[in-house]
Amino acid sequence: MKIVRTVIEVREQVKKWREQGLSVGFVPTMGYLHEGHKSLILKSVEQNDRTVVSIFVNPTQFGENEDLSTYPRDLDSDAALCTDAKADLIFHPEPEQMYPQGFCTGVNMSVLTQELCGKSRPVHFGGVCTVVSKLFNIVKPDRAYFGEKDAQQLAIIRRMVEDLNFDIEIVGCPIVRESDGLAKSSRNTYLNTEERKAAVILSKSIALGKELVQNGERDAQTIIKAMTEKISSEPLARIDYVEVVDALTMQKVQKIEKSVLVAIAVFIGKTRLIDNFSFNI
Ligand code: AMP
Repeated sequence: MKIVRTVIEVREQVKKWREQGLSVGFVPTMGYLHEGHKSLILKSVEQNDRTVVSIFVNPTQFGENEDLSTYPRDLDSDAALCTDAKADLIFHPEPEQMYPQGFCTGVNMSVLTQELCGKSRPVHFGGVCTVVSKLFNIVKPDRAYFGEKDAQQLAIIRRMVEDLNFDIEIVGCPIVRESDGLAKSSRNTYLNTEERKAAVILSKSIALGKELVQNGERDAQTIIKAMTEKISSEPLARIDYVEVVDALTMQKVQKIEKSVLVAIAVFIGKTRLIDNFSFNI
């Protein structure tokens, strides 16, 4: 497994693979890799001849008061996980490699970015769409792998690929959780012992919402109210949002008549965590 830091090196390697007729899978990440990321890499290795993992803490998707400077990083441990999962190449660029002086282009999306994390983090998805477009143009993969943990991001990437005619198949992968239900996240490392225990309230409220929907509840407000009450029973939790949205457009719904995403964002102390479930009709 090789680690490269420049666009030219990625292009040269991928070109060689293409000349040999090999297919290429791609897993974009911000590093500090865990079993959730690994599940995406393993899926790519299973479905493609070669797998590229990018590790880049993308500055343009962080707002001013967010955790860009403190975001956890550990390239050695990331490289070990990628080797173990049989990835072939890590692309680990410096910010200047991705955003050289004079850079002034961006990819922006309306509609799907209006609710949920797009509302709380106004610059976030513009940064995501821009960096993912760049990475797609650099790696030119056959398939790219994204986690359902970031369900709004996955819907946005699917829409962007359709809208901008990227010839790439987007593969969604299920949420990987800790044994107590907490969705794995690089940001879980911010939690102290007490907060870590409290954080299980996210998956508990997700389980409650899922149970209600599976038992036939179709009124969004009833589901939101029950989940909100559950989260509010945890003193360390502060709700950012609890929403029910259309699975494709990410617009709020009142009644569940089509496939929906039920998504939450909750602060545990200063750490903002997200979780969700989809209900398909
Ligand atoms: P990140 O490094 O947080 O930007 O995540 C990179 C990719 O890994 C994204 O597509 C995430 O949705 C995915 N991912 C992160 N955590 C999990 C998880 N617990 N289960 C499945 N996929 C995940």
